[in-house]
Amino acid sequence: VDDSGEGGWGNARLEAYGPIAMDPAAAVLHYGQEIFEGMKAYRHADDSIWTFRPEANAARLNRSAARLALPQLPEEIFLESLRQLVAADKEWVPTRDGESLYLRPFMIATEAFLGVRPAREVSYRVIASPAANYFGGELAPVSIWVSRNYARAGRGGTGAAKCGGNYAASLAAQLEAEAHGCKQVLFLDQFNNNAVEELGGMNVFFVFKDGSLVTPSLSGTILEGITRSSIIQLAQDRGLNVQERTITLDEWRDGVGSGEITEVFACGTAAVITPIGELKDGDDVISAPDPSAGEVTMSIREQLLGIQTGAVEDPHGWLTRLV
Ligand code: PMP
Repeated sequence: VDDSGEGGWGNARLEAYGPIAMDPAAAVLHYGQEIFEGMKAYRHADDSIWTFRPEANAARLNRSAARLALPQLPEEIFLESLRQLVAADKEWVPTRDGESLYLRPFMIATEAFLGVRPAREVSYRVIASPAANYFGGELAPVSIWVSRNYARAGRGGTGAAKCGGNYAASLAAQLEAEAHGCKQVLFLDQFNNNAVEELGGMNVFFVFKDGSLVTPSLSGTILEGITRSSIIQLAQDRGLNVQERTITLDEWRDGVGSGEITEVFACGTAAVITPIGELKDGDDVISAPDPSAGEVTMSIREQLLGIQTGAVEDPHGWLTRLV
């Protein structure tokens, strides 16, 4: 926990997990002035504990902070908070393959007032919690519901920020997806020919027959996924052509239908990489390419997970030792 009052950051302390007291008028409770990150720490074979690209999380947290009118958190304080917490909770880092310690840094506006303005007192905290393999070990393709009633974000909005409000706005769409028997929701840019944006909690990639990879460009309305940028790099290392561009739902439907698109997958910290199965758009069902977990998906997944767990070489120095 590090509280920033007038004195700024640098007074971090470890607290036992438990409820936190807040004034009922705390700004976060009324205006949602809040941001967060999601990360994982893995135990390597020699018992050392590592995390993946924490500088990228620190940078994204600070971009989110700027958008939500919250103060910047120096990268060194961010990294130190992870080191101290994981050192104290070392025994909580699972030893089983693929399991990790999930880390949830977050910043909330704690100042009590009811006017609408940025808070002057905020609190930065990190929660640690052991996480099982996201999909229980097996890699079942996720089914997707196309959200036609709700957008996740608009230009100039908070789409690129990792703030609670974006997720609050996505919940009704997620309920709709579940009501239609789907695991995840797909958001479109309804003002741009139904360009594919992202899932409720993951970015999206398409593998084309010619070997190229396509992922929606960072339009300011999708989350700048760290898994996404890592996959782009690993694919380029392999000499694959990676395009960040607009891809519409029509191109998805036609591409899968004609065999032009051979694999579709989603990615994020929690699941790393997971194949996308069936896509439901109202009564219209777009089936997954066959096989849904194709060669490129599985091979990049194995490499990325291998880097994170210390099983394969880390060519870009993405790992940071915490303990
Ligand atoms: N999009 C959304 C909406 C997300 O919540 C996440 C998870 N943080 C992602 C994409 C993937 O981001 P990352 O790879 O940094 O976990």
